[in-house]
Amino acid sequence: MTDAKRVVLKPGREKSIVHRHPWIYSGAIARTDGSPEPGDTVEVLSSGGRWLARGTFNARSQITVRLYSWQEDQPLDAALVADRLRRAIALRESLGLGQIANAYRLVSAESDLLPGLIVDRHGDYLVLQVLSAGAERWKDQSVAFLQEMLNPAGIYERSDAAVRDKEGLPLTTGVLAGKEPPALLEIQENGRHFLVDVMRGHKTGFYLDQRENRRKITGYCPGKDVLNAFSYTGGFGVYASVYGASKVLHLDSSTEALELARRNVDLNTRVARCEHEFMEANAFAALRAFRAAGRTFDVIILDPPKFAESAGQLPRALNGYKDVNLVAMQILRPGGTLITFSCSGLVSAAVFQQVVWEAALDAGRDAQVVERLSQGPDHPVLLTFPEGEYLKGLVIKA
Ligand code: SAH
Repeated sequence: MTDAKRVVLKPGREKSIVHRHPWIYSGAIARTDGSPEPGDTVEVLSSGGRWLARGTFNARSQITVRLYSWQEDQPLDAALVADRLRRAIALRESLGLGQIANAYRLVSAESDLLPGLIVDRHGDYLVLQVLSAGAERWKDQSVAFLQEMLNPAGIYERSDAAVRDKEGLPLTTGVLAGKEPPALLEIQENGRHFLVDVMRGHKTGFYLDQRENRRKITGYCPGKDVLNAFSYTGGFGVYASVYGASKVLHLDSSTEALELARRNVDLNTRVARCEHEFMEANAFAALRAFRAAGRTFDVIILDPPKFAESAGQLPRALNGYKDVNLVAMQILRPGGTLITFSCSGLVSAAVFQQVVWEAALDAGRDAQVVERLSQGPDHPVLLTFPEGEYLKGLVIKA
C-alpha cells in the first residue's frame, strides 16, 4: 500500500470512524500521502498505521473525507456504487412507496451510504443532486446504472445547491440522460396530484419529505379554518381542503410558489366545498398583522425553511422559531391545532420542543403535544449518521 493515496489521522481521532460515522473533518487529519485530487479514493489509517476505512477525498471541504467502506477487501469501485444504488432502490420498493406515490426519494446520500448523492423520482423522471466531490467523481457511472436499473424517461441534474460551494464545485443544472422533463411535471401522492417544477423549484421541485405528514394532518382539518403558512406550492393546503377544511389560507413569500399552489388547488379540489385564499407575504409580518386585526384560525401549519445552516446561526434560528410559534399560538382559536415543523438538522427534536414550550408559555396557552412527526421513510436515518434526521414536527392542541 506504499503508493496508495491515504490520510493518517491524528492520535485519538479514530473513534468516530470505528463507529462508522461517514465524515472525517480536516482537523482530525495529521498527514495526507500521495497528493489525492478532489474525488480520489483514499485509505484512512489510524495514527498508529492501522487501516480503518476507505472514502473519497476533498481538501477543499471541511469534510475532507467521506467514507464508503469499513471493510479492507471491499474496493471503492463501480460495483460498490451499483450495489449501493440497488440497495437504496430495493429499500423503497420494500416500503411499497410506489403504491402510494410516484414521487419519492430513491437515494438519500450519506443515509444510503452514497455520500453526497441525492436521487429523487418524479413520475417518469429522475432528478439528481450531486453535493460532494466524491459523488461528482461517480456521477457518470451512477447515471449509467440508474438508466439501466430504472429506465427513466430522463435524468435531470439539479446541482445548484449552495453547499456545492463548500466543496469547490460549480453550480450546474441540465439533462444528464434521456429527455428534458416538461416545464411542469404532474406527480401523484396519496391520490392527490401536484404540478412540480423540477428544473427551477426548491430542492428537486417538491418537499417529498413531508408526504406522510401531509396525510397525517388531514384528520385535524374537517370543517376548519386553516392557515397554511410557508405553503410553498400548496401541499398541506391541498390535503386539508380535500379532507374537508372549510377554508384554507395559503401564505408564502414566493410568487411562483403561490402560482403553482393555485394550479394545484384547481387540480385537486374542483369538487371540494372549500374557500381558498392566497397571500404573498412575509409570514412573520403577516402573522403579526392577523394578531393586530384579531383574525384567528382553527388550524395553523408552520413549515418554515431551514433557519440554521451552521452552528453560528443557531441562536438566531431559535429566536425565529420561538417568534413564529408564539405569534401562531396567539392567533390560534381556543381548542385549535398548531402543526409546527423545523427542518434544521442542527435543532434537535428536544430543543425544538423546548422552543415551542417557551412560545406556549409566553402566549399563556396550555399546549399539549398530541402527535410527533418526522421525515418520510424514503428519507431513512442511518444509525451511524444521526445528522440525517433533520425534520421534526409537533401537533399541538392548545
Ligand atoms: N410545506 C411545504 C414546504 C415549505 S418550504 C410543502 O409541503 O410543500 C418553505 C417555504 O417557505 C418556501 O415556499 C418559501 O418560499 C417560504 N418562505 C421562506 N421564507 C418565508 C417568509 N419569511 N415568509 C413566508 N414564506 C417564506
